[in-house]
Amino acid sequence: MTITAVTARSEAARGEISAIMVPQGTPGYTVEKSYRKLGWHSSDTHPLTFQDCRVPEGSVLGKRGGGYRQFLHTLAGGRVAIAALSVGLAQACLDASLTYARERKQFGKPISSFQAIQFKLADMAMEVELARTITYKAACAYEYSGESSPEFRKLAAMAKLYASETSKRATDQAVQIHGGNGFMEEYPVARYYRDVKVNEIGEGTSEVQRILIARELGL
Ligand SMILES: Cc1cc2nc3c(=O)[nH]c(=O)nc-3n(C[C@H](O)[C@H](O)[C@H](O)COP(=O)(O)OP(=O)(O)OC[C@H]3O[C@@H](n4cnc5c(N)ncnc54)[C@H](O)[C@@H]3O)c2cc1C
Repeated sequence: MTITAVTARSEAARGEISAIMVPQGTPGYTVEKSYRKLGWHSSDTHPLTFQDCRVPEGSVLGKRGGGYRQFLHTLAGGRVAIAALSVGLAQACLDASLTYARERKQFGKPISSFQAIQFKLADMAMEVELARTITYKAACAYEYSGESSPEFRKLAAMAKLYASETSKRATDQAVQIHGGNGFMEEYPVARYYRDVKVNEIGEGTSEVQRILIARELGL
């Protein structure tokens, strides 16, 4: 397990933070019972506790005191990953909704012929395209401007924020287009609806992304 921990208290508010590798089986390190989560059921998530847990100094990952910087580095790349994951989820909602809307008939017609449904699909398609574009743009900035460039920091936060909020709207509309069936686990959109919420939380919440974007605007 790789963790970050305060390794020394100092005048600075945060203290010294280091990244530390803790091997499974280290006395005092306990992996508690897994959480019962709203979504992401196939991701194994547990509370971890550390009670008088000691590891040799060689277990420090990188430089002692460099943990905060390492953490920020992981988060920046992770934002593009969550954006990409969100684009995939939103695209899956669009694909499932298009198929369902063409198959499902009401009042003697496929529901895809109703303008109310067409507008939902049109909005979804537009937002998926925009989310994909900004995700690629952030990935390009990572590649060509570098992970510590202000351009990348801004685009990574924008991509994560926009794509995760797009995917949430997409799952909501996908369930709506599926009607009552959208609430049933037999249809994949029910799981998409449960799985999407964490995209607005992990790797920095939507509020934190807005703070970062505002900071890049010099506010
Ligand atoms: C399934 C899952 C897996 C996870 N996996 C990992 C992992 O592998 N590694 C890891 O390190 N973490 C992991 N996390 C933790 C995750 O990164 C945090 O939950 C997330 O960053 C939010 O932090 P928090 O839960 O402490 O919320 P809080 O920081 O308590 O936030 C609560 C609310 O307050 C808002 N808020 C907080 N600060 C501010 C502020 N300054 N201004 C405005 N609003 C603010 C937040 O936006 C949010 O709405 C995981 C979480 C989940 C749900």
